[in-house]
Amino acid sequence: MKEHAPRKRFGQNFLVSPGVVAKIVDAVRPQADDRVVEIGPGLGALTEPLLARLRHLHVVEIDRDLIARLRERFSPERLTIHQGDALQFDFAALGRGLRVVGNLPYNISTPLLFHLAACAGGVRDMHFMLQREVVERMVAAPGGPEYGRLSVMLQYRFEMERLLLVPPGAFNPAPRVESAVVRMLPRPPAVLAASDGTLLGDVVKSAFAQRRKMLRNTLRERLSEEDWAALGIAPTRRAEELAVGDYVRIANRLAEAGISSSSSRS
Ligand code: SAM
Repeated sequence: MKEHAPRKRFGQNFLVSPGVVAKIVDAVRPQADDRVVEIGPGLGALTEPLLARLRHLHVVEIDRDLIARLRERFSPERLTIHQGDALQFDFAALGRGLRVVGNLPYNISTPLLFHLAACAGGVRDMHFMLQREVVERMVAAPGGPEYGRLSVMLQYRFEMERLLLVPPGAFNPAPRVESAVVRMLPRPPAVLAASDGTLLGDVVKSAFAQRRKMLRNTLRERLSEEDWAALGIAPTRRAEELAVGDYVRIANRLAEAGISSSSSRS
């Protein structure tokens, strides 16, 4: 078969370092009967060692040429190939206790993380290779420039840990940036419970839309001085200074007052 020419539009940077592949698979620690889905199997760098430990694996791949290669290499009894866009894929349909793995296409990593966060309830864990800068934003603590909407919305649903840094030379073609592997474990729902998740998302989006402004201004249409006092949060603070739990408390106060997502108090 002709060599596959990597497609930039599909974020194709294939892993070519056996050492990095082994570290990722070891971090995932697949057990034979685990229910696992790999996003973007590509040329199979992770697929093959995962299948060596699993009875069965699901993959979601968008590139038809790569799918044809995967079909030649792996039997349909062991590998179920879902052809299509992972951004549209219904991960919940694969069942509960799902483990999600992938060296993700970097050009869609943020929308993909938001899409996956929506199905966190049925997920056991996720292990992803991403741009290092994105992983740093995911795990960032309040107070720094990396802490933003992605940090709050993902930390609300997951405990996250950066596992390893991966240099550009581990891929073909080599990306311009460093990469990192992150582990994401869904939090038990009761730990940080927003009564209206969409409302929480709206509040966080509004707060970070102008992250240097005081919350009194960015959330002016939603919260009064009385609300800030009751919450015990100084309205002079800025979006990046609030912890995830503060955002949940804000959203819950609004929900208690009968405010739903995308509406404001006039
Ligand atoms: N897992 C392989 C590896 O580690 O070498 C390939 C990783 S490569 C960074 C990303 C893979 O995701 C490619 O196979 C690409 O075709 C696939 N991909 C890109 N966009 C996708 C999408 N929207 N849905 C599903 N797969 C996608």
